[in-house]
Amino acid sequence: MPERFQSLRGFHDQLPGRTEHWRRFETLAHALFSLYGFREIRPPHLEPTELFVRSVGELTDIVGKEMFTLKAGDESISLRPEITASVCRAYIQHGLDRRGANRLYYIGPAFRRERPQKGRLRQFHQAGVEVLGESDPEADVEVIVLGARLVERLGIEGFELRVNSLGDAACRPRYREALVAALRDRADRLCEDCRSRIERNPLRVLDCKRDSCQQLLEEVPTGLEFLCQDCERHFERVREGLEQLEVKATVDARLVRGLDYYVRTAFEIATAGLGAQNAVLGGGRYDGLIRDLGGGDVSGLGWACGIERLLLAAALTEHDNPPKLDAFVVTLGPRARERALGLVEGLRARNVATMWDTAGHGLGGQMKRAGRSGAAYAVLIGDDELARGTVTLKDLTTGEQREAPLGLDALAAELTRARGADARASDPRERPLERAGRRATGNRQTPATPPTSGKPRGSARRENDDGQ
Ligand SMILES: [Zn+2]
Ligand SMILES: [Zn+2]
Repeated sequence: MPERFQSLRGFHDQLPGRTEHWRRFETLAHALFSLYGFREIRPPHLEPTELFVRSVGELTDIVGKEMFTLKAGDESISLRPEITASVCRAYIQHGLDRRGANRLYYIGPAFRRERPQKGRLRQFHQAGVEVLGESDPEADVEVIVLGARLVERLGIEGFELRVNSLGDAACRPRYREALVAALRDRADRLCEDCRSRIERNPLRVLDCKRDSCQQLLEEVPTGLEFLCQDCERHFERVREGLEQLEVKATVDARLVRGLDYYVRTAFEIATAGLGAQNAVLGGGRYDGLIRDLGGGDVSGLGWACGIERLLLAAALTEHDNPPKLDAFVVTLGPRARERALGLVEGLRARNVATMWDTAGHGLGGQMKRAGRSGAAYAVLIGDDELARGTVTLKDLTTGEQREAPLGLDALAAELTRARGADARASDPRERPLERAGRRATGNRQTPATPPTSGKPRGSARRENDDGQ
């Protein structure tokens, strides 16, 4: 027997059942992002390695250890470990500002050489938004609120929004100095990783998950104490805007997020019930990134969410809303079979989702398949029916049978009439994603769910890195 192949570790198949959920998520996301004036962009999955070195930062784990990089001739190219850099690259390359496309969103895979034994994915999926060239604090408010609305519409309850300001080029150096000094004094109590971070990347120490480091951090200064007047005013306006829109936010002075390019606003949305790694969405402002990538002096702002985790928090089950077939055609005898080929195709041409058996099963086998298919009706055709110009419709839920005309238009009308109300109710455009059997809470008018208090700080921020 030839060897059977397995998917690579950390690379998962999305199977039927899951894919329908994902599509519902995508439909919801496309619609929501459009409401806020965003347009979709789909950059390629491979980019020059240097793009990520310059944007994400050479000293991050993402670029230092986790990229899938390969040589193509003289070039070094990498599978994107995140998507913001690609969006910014495309924005610059195509002069998207001149085309009035400065609010962009994406939905797609990203790749990191994570440790699969810890259950981490090497291909994971992100949805995210980027706003380029909008420097007002109101832009921050809109972007944060959009994140909160997405989580609400997914029916995720009890989420917490945390915000912070990381300062800018004017005030961060002073904070960095003070932080380094405070950390040096306490170096002997820091973990080994953090000790090596003191000089290289001191802000990352704030992100350390070890309890010992977390306790010690209570003693070191926070960035908020060092904000310059402009940064302070910006942060104040962001908080006011959130309040005005009744989106509850908690200031978390130690929220730094993983990447180097954030300035001023940083934020995260965490959900209860995902254990320590509870952040599902995060982002911030990255003024300066476009310039660093060779573009103009254009401000930037955005967030990303890990779709796998978000759907986990939404607690969707695999059987939530399987797609429905309208009809399964069951044939008895060669003449009926001959007639069925055209009948099935004719029904599909009339937007009736139809299947039949092309594996040569007898009547019993066909009925079994009809039952398993999830179709609303079995359409039975035999010699008797053909002679009368009718079919027998069997309701596969109730078992009731009745005759219906064999004519395509009449039969199509008959088969779609029954589904009418039902189909509208399950149309993803008509309602938010929700838990099976649970009322969805989200809509635009609903204020954000108040956060649960007392979340342990320093909860793992793995997802941040998945964010941006
Ligand atoms: Zn540490
Ligand atoms: Zn500042």
